[in-house]
Amino acid sequence: MKRCISCGALLSEAPLLTIENMPAAAQNLPGPEDAEREHGITVRLCACTGCGLVQLDNEPVSYYRDVIRSGGWSTTMDRLRRSQYDAWIAMCGLEGGKILEAGCGQGEFLKILADYPVQAFGMEHKHDLVLKARAAGLTVSEDYPETEDQVFENGPFDGFTSFNFLEHQPDPCRYLRAIARNLVPGGYGLVTVPSFEYILGQNSFYELIPDHLSYFTEGTLSSLMDRCGFDVLKKERVNRDTISVIVRKRTMPDVSGLIARRESIAAEVLRLVDTVSGEGKKIAVWGASHQGFTLCAVTGLQGKVAYIIDSAPFKQGMIAPASHIPIISPEDARKDPADTIIIVAPGYTEEIAGIIRRTFPKGTSIRTLMTDHLDDLGRTE
Ligand SMILES: [Zn+2]
Repeated sequence: MKRCISCGALLSEAPLLTIENMPAAAQNLPGPEDAEREHGITVRLCACTGCGLVQLDNEPVSYYRDVIRSGGWSTTMDRLRRSQYDAWIAMCGLEGGKILEAGCGQGEFLKILADYPVQAFGMEHKHDLVLKARAAGLTVSEDYPETEDQVFENGPFDGFTSFNFLEHQPDPCRYLRAIARNLVPGGYGLVTVPSFEYILGQNSFYELIPDHLSYFTEGTLSSLMDRCGFDVLKKERVNRDTISVIVRKRTMPDVSGLIARRESIAAEVLRLVDTVSGEGKKIAVWGASHQGFTLCAVTGLQGKVAYIIDSAPFKQGMIAPASHIPIISPEDARKDPADTIIIVAPGYTEEIAGIIRRTFPKGTSIRTLMTDHLDDLGRTE
C-alpha cells in the first residue's frame, strides 16, 4: 500500500476516484511525430488515512523542480501579488529584510517584490529560467531543496514566498523543512496553493492534473505546515481558487528557567549536604523514584548521601542508577539513623513526613524538595 507524501501514513485502500486517459503532463508538449507513442495515463486520487491530504498516488512529472508559469503577466495577478505583499510585509515587519522566493521561475513575481523596500532573492531549478530572471536584473540562485539540511545561497532569510509550487512536490515536507532551515528564527512565509475546497465546490474534475500531486484544503495545508516547523498565522482564500497562508517558523522552547533551576537547587542541596556532613552527621534521601535518582546523580551526591530510603520492597537492596547510592528500607534506616532526611517524592511528602515524625529518632531534621527550593519541615519531637 502507498503512503502519504505529506505525513507518511497509509493511503486509503481504494482510490476516491480513478481517471483514465489523462494527459501525462501539461508541459513539454508532444509534436505530431510523437503521436504514435504518446498516450494518456491513469491517475488515482487518494486520501491519506492520517493527515487527510488528498493526493495522486502517481509518480511526479519529470520537471517537478521547475517553475513553469504559462500565464504570463496579467493585471489580475499583478494586483493580487501586490495586495499580498502589502499585507504580508506590513503584518510581519519585513521591510529591509531578505526574502527568498523558493521556486521563482523567470521572476514573474520576484520582479514585483523587487519594487518593495526589501532585498529580493530567488531560487529556480530550470537553467534557462534562471538566465532569464538574471537578465531581468534579479538575484537568482540555480538550486532546488534536495535535502532537508541543504544550505541555500544568500541565506539566511527573514522570509520566503512560494506561489503554487508546493502542490507539485513529491516530498513537500523536505521542501518546507529545507526552507525553514534557511530562515532566521521566527522567519515568515507567504505560501499559496490551489484550493481543493474550490475544486470540490465547482466539481471541476479537469483541475486534476498529474503535475499537481497534492490537493490541499486549508486544514491539510495547515497540518503539513505544522509538521514542517511552521505556525500558520493567517489563512484565506484569494482569487476564488487559491489558498493563501502566512506562516512563521517556530522558535525553540526557552529552557533557560530549567537550567537556572537545576543550578539553584543543586547549589542549595549541596550547601545542606556539606553543612550536615561537615558536622560529622549523616544525611539521607527518601524516595527511590526518578526525581530522587536524578537529584542524587546530577547534583553529585554520591559519597555524600548515606542511603536512599524507599518503602517498596523490590527497590530495597538495589542501588540508585548513575549515583550508585544504596537503597534501603525504613526499618534499616531506623537502625542506622541519619540526622537529616530529604524527602524527594512529589505527592507523598506529607505521608512520608508523618512516618518520619512517628517512627524515627527524636531530632531528625526533615527537608523536602519543592519545585524551587528545599523546604524545612522541622525536626521530629
Ligand atoms: Zn498524510
